[in-house]
Amino acid sequence: MEQLDTIVIGAGVAGLTAARLLHGAGRRIAVLEARDRVGGRVWTDRSAGNVTDLGASWIHGVDGCPVAAASEAFGMPPIEFTVGSYQPDGRPIAYFAPDGSRLPDDAARAFAEDVRAVDATLREVIDRSEPLDSYRDVTERALAAQDWDEERAARVREFLEHRTEEQYGAWIEDLAAHGLDDDAVDGDEVVFPGGYDRLPAALAEGLDVRLGHVVTRVRWSDDGVVVVTAHGALRAATAVLTVPVGVLQGGDLAIEPPLPARVAGALGRLTMNRFEKVVLRFPTRFWGDDVYAIRQQGAEGRRWHSWYDLTPLHGTPTLLTFAAGPTAREIEGWDDARVAASVMAQLRRLYGAAAEAPTSVQVTAWHADPFARGSYAYMTVGSTTADHDDLATPIGGVLHLAGEATWTDDPATVPAAMLSGHRAAERILASEVPIERLWSQA
Ligand SMILES: Cc1cc2nc3c(=O)[nH]c(=O)nc-3n(C[C@H](O)[C@H](O)[C@H](O)COP(=O)(O)OP(=O)(O)OC[C@H]3O[C@@H](n4cnc5c(N)ncnc54)[C@H](O)[C@@H]3O)c2cc1C
Repeated sequence: MEQLDTIVIGAGVAGLTAARLLHGAGRRIAVLEARDRVGGRVWTDRSAGNVTDLGASWIHGVDGCPVAAASEAFGMPPIEFTVGSYQPDGRPIAYFAPDGSRLPDDAARAFAEDVRAVDATLREVIDRSEPLDSYRDVTERALAAQDWDEERAARVREFLEHRTEEQYGAWIEDLAAHGLDDDAVDGDEVVFPGGYDRLPAALAEGLDVRLGHVVTRVRWSDDGVVVVTAHGALRAATAVLTVPVGVLQGGDLAIEPPLPARVAGALGRLTMNRFEKVVLRFPTRFWGDDVYAIRQQGAEGRRWHSWYDLTPLHGTPTLLTFAAGPTAREIEGWDDARVAASVMAQLRRLYGAAAEAPTSVQVTAWHADPFARGSYAYMTVGSTTADHDDLATPIGGVLHLAGEATWTDDPATVPAAMLSGHRAAERILASEVPIERLWSQA
């Protein structure tokens, strides 16, 4: 049986980060990846002459972010696009009132102030929350403290629902009270017109990455780890397991003996979300060239409420919207044409006949993907923020879980994946390793 120092399972950003740092430290490693590509949930489609990030797009704040530093070192020019965290304002946003009319600027400003007022109260309410409170519970308390009339509260309530959907792909009643604690954005947000996949491609350079290797079994003991795929079994002193929470919870990858109680408990309180992208390209930029995003208030925005203008990335008039939380469940099984018709019905309500039929539509299907089972994990009611770190508790000193869901500070992101891979490598090497080695060895 082939013997290695470390086997890394999964060639997403977490796995490639761990592998690159271990390889750089002289360890014999192999990365086993189920798909026929690296990158995992960082995936860029380049068909029909377009560059479309089907997975991650944003760095949610470049200040002090290792992904920002790595992408700069790897020659990935960014574009500023600071609307990726469901901000109420800060960049130009076209708000439409429940009746479909454009909200005047002063009304939009007043609405953003209302969101900020609730957010300020919310921080204290969350600090005082009970273990089984949901995000709905705490937002209701924060809204009640404002003493507003029903209409004013309703607009902010639906904003908080939509923010939960877009940030975590979850319905507000299903997310833990602390589920959005790490929502702060440090510095500008950016996206990559050349495609986010250049990051995993650069991280993978020079590594022994074995594509098409679906891991079905991981056996750990004091002696090390045996990892089984259809290509045979491999043995190593240690392993880094970076598959998404949904794969860990599904039955396709056996871990023997089962995960210890602390890790299994944390895993049981996290779950994969429902969050799909819908990218529509148009003959014209019928929404104008002065807005970063479009938002629909009121009942009409229940399904489609926010659109992001991706035109500056490539010059082609393009809108991105999300089927997140309940909407993602609703559209499951719809074909792309039906999704597009549903989105366009809303856009025509706002822009009339100017909203021409799209020339192309792309709808992702991360929840149906057996190697993802959703877009990222969220904290269910009863979960605590410590669950993320607990999931990464070293197992038997030989098996290390890593990946976005194992990082407490800003989980569900590419930086979380990178930092978790860095932590796994440091634990295996039993020494500190500057994260800059990821790109300074490039
Ligand atoms: C639609 C969408 C939008 C997003 N938007 C953003 C964003 O704007 N900004 C942001 O920072 N983050 C965003 N994210 C989240 C971000 O993409 C992830 O947090 C991050 O890429 C996760 O990296 P990872 O290495 O932890 O997991 P993954 O990238 O999922 O890597 C795990 C790897 O394991 C492989 N694998 C699974 N099962 C097996 C098996 N049995 N055997 C072998 N290999 C296996 C998978 O194929 C995958 O390659 C988004 C994600 C999605 C899907």
